[in-house]
Formats: sequence, structure tokens, C-alpha cells
Amino acid sequence: MNIRQGSLAIAFLPTDCKSTMENTFDVLIIGAGPAGSSAAILLAGAGWSVALIEKQLFPRRKVCGECIAASNLPLLSALGVGTEFERRAGPALRKVAFMRGAHTALTELPPATRSGFAWGRALGRETLDTLLIDKARAVGVQIFQPWSLNSVRGGPGAWRCELKTVGSKASATLCAPIAIDAHGSWEALPTGRDEGRRVHRATDLLAFKANFVGASLQDGLLPVLSFDGGYGGMVVADGRVMTLACCVRRDRLEALRHTAPGVSAGEAVEAMLRRECAGVRKTLSTATRPGAWIAAGPLHPGIRVHNDDGFFRIGNAAGEAHPIIGEGMSMALQSAWLLCAELLGAQREERVHTAGDAAWQHLARCRYARQWHQRFGPRMRLASLFAHASMRAPTADALLMLFKAWPGLLPLGAIWGGKTRCAVDAATIASLTALRGTI
Ligand SMILES: Cc1cc2nc3c(=O)[nH]c(=O)nc-3n(C[C@H](O)[C@H](O)[C@H](O)COP(=O)(O)OP(=O)(O)OC[C@H]3O[C@@H](n4cnc5c(N)ncnc54)[C@H](O)[C@@H]3O)c2cc1C
Repeated sequence: MNIRQGSLAIAFLPTDCKSTMENTFDVLIIGAGPAGSSAAILLAGAGWSVALIEKQLFPRRKVCGECIAASNLPLLSALGVGTEFERRAGPALRKVAFMRGAHTALTELPPATRSGFAWGRALGRETLDTLLIDKARAVGVQIFQPWSLNSVRGGPGAWRCELKTVGSKASATLCAPIAIDAHGSWEALPTGRDEGRRVHRATDLLAFKANFVGASLQDGLLPVLSFDGGYGGMVVADGRVMTLACCVRRDRLEALRHTAPGVSAGEAVEAMLRRECAGVRKTLSTATRPGAWIAAGPLHPGIRVHNDDGFFRIGNAAGEAHPIIGEGMSMALQSAWLLCAELLGAQREERVHTAGDAAWQHLARCRYARQWHQRFGPRMRLASLFAHASMRAPTADALLMLFKAWPGLLPLGAIWGGKTRCAVDAATIASLTALRGTI
């Protein structure tokens, strides 16, 4: 059963919001990365009134390795952006390498198990995120951009969010019975709850990305880079532009900057990679970098899907894996689908109109969190092990020896890391796609 526009909101909102109906929605989604935009498309497609709040103007560059595992391609297709993805994305990713110092271990990647989409590909975030938000707009999502969530009051059943525009003094109040946190993990959300100021630690991971043209990276090759105090990756994405993204520990970065005063942090990282990794040196020998390095962090790998603050969380807001396995966007897209299946009752007997009720939301959050742990817990643990081993010389050297001796370990890691199997089953994809079709 589909709900009609705004019917959840009218039933559950406090009276002060009922008087300004233009600001009342069934659901508020904070953040229009792959997680937020996917959830917005699915819920709007099922007839919900959706407000999607994004503080940055698109297209925008984002720190990311930009590889989309093949397991996500059926989801992008069902969201209505598959054709554009196919048209624009870089070459099919069929090989993986582990590069450390002077050495490279190289092997084939396994194909994905679901029909039609065997290989992952890379697409710049300026393009992917814009495709998704444009689709959300096209299916009737009301987009507040560039607006930022400023404060939150209320709770499940009656949320009241204050927004302000970025770059002007305009503000707005949006109300909804359901709120989804899809704001990522690199900044605090102003929920009014004191999340505490994080102290800088030597082990903090800072993330960097730059694009290069004319690089001599083989098409379809996905090298994972290992170096002391960090890890990274390279890939050829859309328009034959190469993306180099990496994470560096704060203590290593400080040491690098100390020895290279006057250059940006990204440039110091690039100089180190050229110096210490033969694979990077060779790849960049023919390349130019048309833009600046961009940076983000510190990263917060870990699980926070089940919180007591009443938000439903998807994407990095729910949990962030170490990006060494390049599965963050998979988890963003797939967690959005899992949550929407829960909210839309696609797999249950309950009726959708109960979704505004606070007690129902609590149960739904528990059910969704349980699924999240089952589907993503193993790859979070694998990513953490692989990341920590790759950043320390003794374990990283051991990994290199293992990968050279048994090349099959790398594709096995890709399978364990979730690259070949989607966490959303085919029946759920079909039922949510059918809901979209009925509007
Ligand atoms: C170095 C590196 C390499 C990576 N490589 C890969 C890879 O190759 N493949 C892969 O799948 N993943 C990769 N990832 C992970 C991937 O980038 C993230 O997991 C993914 O972006 C998470 O998507 P999301 O939608 O949850 O959040 P995000 O993409 O972070 O989107 C959140 C959005 O919310 C907005 N926002 C934040 N706060 C507010 C607010 N208060 N109000 C309104 N809007 C707000 C932000 O502007 C942003 O647009 C990498 C990450 C790093 C750091």
C-alpha cells in the first residue's frame, strides 16, 4: 500500500507545524551523498513527501577513490541512473594490484554474481552525486540546497529541524515524523547533543584526493597502495581522468610537512608517494594534475547505526569502513535500500502508515540495525584488519609476500569485502522498484 503525499506528516506532527504545511514532510533526509539521495528517490517514488537537505552546491569534488563495486550497479539501474552511469563511468575494473615500495602483486578481480553487471567502474563524485540528486528532484523530492541543518528539536513522530542557507541569512523550519541522518561522518551534526570536541591524535587518519590527466595507469587496473603510516588507491575514472586517493596518519603527515615546508599537505603526500612507491612514480611520470589536492578528516571508521537519538542512519552516518576496501559507497547505497525496505514495509505485513509512530520507529530501528550488522559487520572488520596491516612496515611486508605467493588471496579479499554480492536481495530490489512504478 502506498501512502499519499504528506499523510504521515499530517497524522503525527505537532500543531505549530500543521499551520505551515509547506514546511511539513513525511521524512527529512539530511545529506545528499549517495546514501541520502538514494533514500530520497526510493521514498518519494513510493509516494512519500521528502525534503532532502544538502549544504554544498553540486557539482562538487569530494575526497573519495570513486570506485563503485559491481554489486551496486543493479541498484543504480533501479534508481533510474544506470544508463547515465554506463555512459559516463570509466573502464570496467578487472584487475587488482597491491603496490608497496618497489614491488607490485597483481591479479584478476572476480566478477560479481548478479546478472548483467560483472565489473565495478569508477565515476567522479561530482558526476555521480549530481546524477542522483537530479533524479531525486525529478521524482518530486523537495531539495534544500545549499541549506545546512542548524538545530534539531523533537524526536521520532515529531521532528522539528531549523535550517539556514549557506551564504545568506535565510532560515526555514521543516517538520516531519521521520528523520534520516545521511550527513556522512566527517563533521558533527548539530543535534543539540554534545558530541564533545575530539582531541587530535597521532593515529588520526586524514584523507586526500587528486585527479590527474595523462597518467599511465593500465585501464581496468585497481592498485591498492601501502606505505608506512597510510594506504591509498588509484583508478581511471570518467573522461580518462585518474583519481588518486589516500589516507595518512596525522603523525606521518606532520613529519612529511616538516621535511617539505611551504608546500600544501596534499603536495607533501604526493611527493612522498612518488618517492616511496615505484608504481605511483611510474603512473604519474606522464601525468599532470589540473586541480588542487583536496583533503578531509579525520575519518571516524566505526559503527554507529544504532543510536538512542531517534534518527535512522544510513551511509557513513551509520558506519564507516576503512576506505582501503573502497566499499563506502556500496554501504551508503545498500544501507539506504535496506532502510527504505524497512520503512516501506516492503517485506512485512505492517501497514506503511504506522511508520510515523515513535514506538514503531524504535522497533524498525532495531530491525534495521540488526540487518546492518549482519550485512556490513564482516566487511567492516576485514577493512580494519587490512588497513592496519597495510600501514605498518612488518605486517605490510608480510602481506606483500603473501599476495605474491598466493595471488588468489586478493580476489578472495574482494569477495569477503562485499565487492561481488549486494547486501540487498533481488526480491527487495524488485519490490521497491515496483512501488516506484505505481506512482
Ligand atoms: C580516501 C577515501 C577513498 C575512498 N574511496 C572509495 C571508493 O573507491 N569506493 C567507495 O565505495 N567508497 C570510497 N570511499 C568512501 C566514500 O567516499 C564514503 O563512504 C561515501 O561518500 C559515504 O556516502 P554518504 O552518502 O554516507 O556520505 P557523504 O558522501 O559524505 O555525503 C554526505 C553529504 O551530507 C552533507 N552534509 C553534511 N553535513 C550536513 C548538514 N549539517 N546539513 C546538510 N548537509 C550536510 C555533505 O555536504 C555531503 O554532501 C572513500 C573514502 C575516502 C576517505
